[in-house]
Amino acid sequence: MELKQVSDHCYAVLNEANRVCDANSGFVDLGEGLVIDTQSDLAHARQMIELFGGVWETMPRHVALTHEDIDHVAGNQLFVDAEIIGHRTMPERMKEAADPAESQKLTHAVHHLVTRVVLRTTHPGVLAVAEQLDETYDFDGIELTPPTTLFDDRHVLELAGVEVHLIHVGPAHQVGDVIVHVPSERVLFAGDLLFSQSTPMGWVGSYQAFSDALDRVIALEPATIVPGHGPVCDIDAVKDEQAYFQHVYDQARACFDQGLDSREAARRIDLGPYAAWKAPSRLLINVERAYREFRDEPTDDPWELPKIFDGMYHLAKDRGLPIEF
Ligand SMILES: [Zn+2]
Repeated sequence: MELKQVSDHCYAVLNEANRVCDANSGFVDLGEGLVIDTQSDLAHARQMIELFGGVWETMPRHVALTHEDIDHVAGNQLFVDAEIIGHRTMPERMKEAADPAESQKLTHAVHHLVTRVVLRTTHPGVLAVAEQLDETYDFDGIELTPPTTLFDDRHVLELAGVEVHLIHVGPAHQVGDVIVHVPSERVLFAGDLLFSQSTPMGWVGSYQAFSDALDRVIALEPATIVPGHGPVCDIDAVKDEQAYFQHVYDQARACFDQGLDSREAARRIDLGPYAAWKAPSRLLINVERAYREFRDEPTDDPWELPKIFDGMYHLAKDRGLPIEF
């Protein structure tokens, strides 16, 4: 984990491995201090707080959350005296998306011989994701800690006279997607609206809504963007992600029109330059979501995660892609 200064007052906390749960955070050293997202587990959150110690003397008193997934909110409980800010939908959505018991079940399975053996034959993708998470994370001790300050469209925080804008742009990656913009520094913390050098995914909403959300980032003209996952980047990364989604959508449409199912579509879609991005088999999620649109199904229906993980695993094996999530 690295703390990187990206402007006079803004910092990125970067998790270099750039796989699922290797989420970035941010920090603004103004006023009483603002943290953006709190990492995937308590150990990583503590490591982040230690890094802040190199540039800031007290515990930050504000936390802004970019969305409800566990890899962005697991360390909330460590910010005892802080105001925690998030979108209005977050407390309800976190019960599902940030439930530590679900993640614990996965990592504990790795250490239970019988469960391992059963999973290896019944759900190899679930076992693979569990092993990947267990390498780095320990979800024990996390208490679901929802935001206390909630907002609908926009919330402006003033830190020592400097405005920080929290803008709701979901549903896209998740329902509660929020970008955190510091206009005077031309820095934007994008949460999982943006993955850099890594395959993005949308769990909710439509392709159009996701692209519109990315347009809103471009319109703000940030010079520096801290993505939810991957290295610090700029607007070019936003345009690359838009191009990726358009490419997947168009090719999935062609496969759908030929009567192919979504799995077959994911096997055939040419990944082109995007094959080099981390976790390319997330393609399956994006194809499934496109198919929901083509079939006029609700795009916000819950996902059967074991099925998705197994599908990604088989897709990676079939196409010779790395087995990573
Ligand atoms: Zn994330």
